[in-house]
Amino acid sequence: MKTLVLAEHNGSAVESATYAAIAAAALIGGVEVLVAGFGCGAAADEAARLEGVDRVLLADAPAYRDQLAENVSALVLSLMPQFDAFIAPTTSRGKGVAPRVAAILDVMQISDIVAVDAPRVFRRPIYAGNAIQTVTSDEAKLVVTVRISAFRSLGVRDGACEIVSVSQAEELGLSELIGSDIVKSDRPELASAKIIVSGGRALRDAETFARTLTPLADRLGAAIGASRAAVDAGYISNEYQVGQTGKIVAPEVYFAIGISGAIQHLAGMKESRVIIAINSDPDAPIFQVADYALVGDLFEAIPEILEHLGA
Ligand SMILES: Cc1cc2nc3c(=O)[nH]c(=O)nc-3n(C[C@H](O)[C@H](O)[C@H](O)COP(=O)(O)OP(=O)(O)OC[C@H]3O[C@@H](n4cnc5c(N)ncnc54)[C@H](O)[C@@H]3O)c2cc1C
Repeated sequence: MKTLVLAEHNGSAVESATYAAIAAAALIGGVEVLVAGFGCGAAADEAARLEGVDRVLLADAPAYRDQLAENVSALVLSLMPQFDAFIAPTTSRGKGVAPRVAAILDVMQISDIVAVDAPRVFRRPIYAGNAIQTVTSDEAKLVVTVRISAFRSLGVRDGACEIVSVSQAEELGLSELIGSDIVKSDRPELASAKIIVSGGRALRDAETFARTLTPLADRLGAAIGASRAAVDAGYISNEYQVGQTGKIVAPEVYFAIGISGAIQHLAGMKESRVIIAINSDPDAPIFQVADYALVGDLFEAIPEILEHLGA
């Protein structure tokens, strides 16, 4: 099986989602990576040094400047005669491109896999992660999206593989990027952070949320996350939401602070290696998944923790 992986990149560097997609693709077959963008040679150079990659296909043209799904999926479709499988990370971009590719190839999409049992046998969560479905496909071409938190990067090697330019560049004119608001932060990215400090509705308001959680996150070098209730109440913007309709994370340590543990929240974080929950309600469902449970008022507990940490 020959697989084509869609690289997630920002032009100058490959993003961590790509590493996970490559790790999954390597379990399916030989891996070639498509870097589509404009002025994205540096990202292609990085992709060529990733373990498990046989070849990088570089589509560097104005048509791919904003990596819009319409143009990129047309490019992928033009390449698919050479491949048995198309693999994309389950990110906004991957979720834009993969269904278009699957629809035009007239095959099913296998979404958000968390394991590859055999090159055509995959596992994926259903019912908000409460059940795992095993899917076997005998279709001519596979179209698969990969849950980033489920696959570990294969790492970087000394040498680099070949980078080949693919010349098909078609501006379909179907969509255009009007603008984007990018939040700049010195904190680790939520999806790939090793430690996450997450807060819920109990944090009262935006000011209290930031004042209470930021010192702990700073002390631990952690990313900040939030429940949907906290996001809906305006404590923090929605790119910080963890859960079924937010981001799926699996850090080494996840702090759930003033979060009840509704199944939709658990769907996004229960694969975390160590879960530490602070909640004043001893019956809060979060304690059913927590490795360490602290029953108490978070406004007393967090200052005490900070004191012990010497912050
Ligand atoms: C289709 C759908 C999708 C959803 N997607 C998501 C999602 O992606 N992510 C998500 O998080 N939710 C999601 N939800 C919402 C989810 O069902 C819950 O409503 C939400 O997770 C609750 O957030 P919370 O735990 O912060 O708030 P609450 O349920 O209000 O819990 C607050 C907790 O704080 C505790 N508490 C209060 N005061 C203190 C204190 N001083 N100290 C310590 N503890 C205290 C309380 O005991 C309580 O357990 C979704 C719901 C639906 C229907």
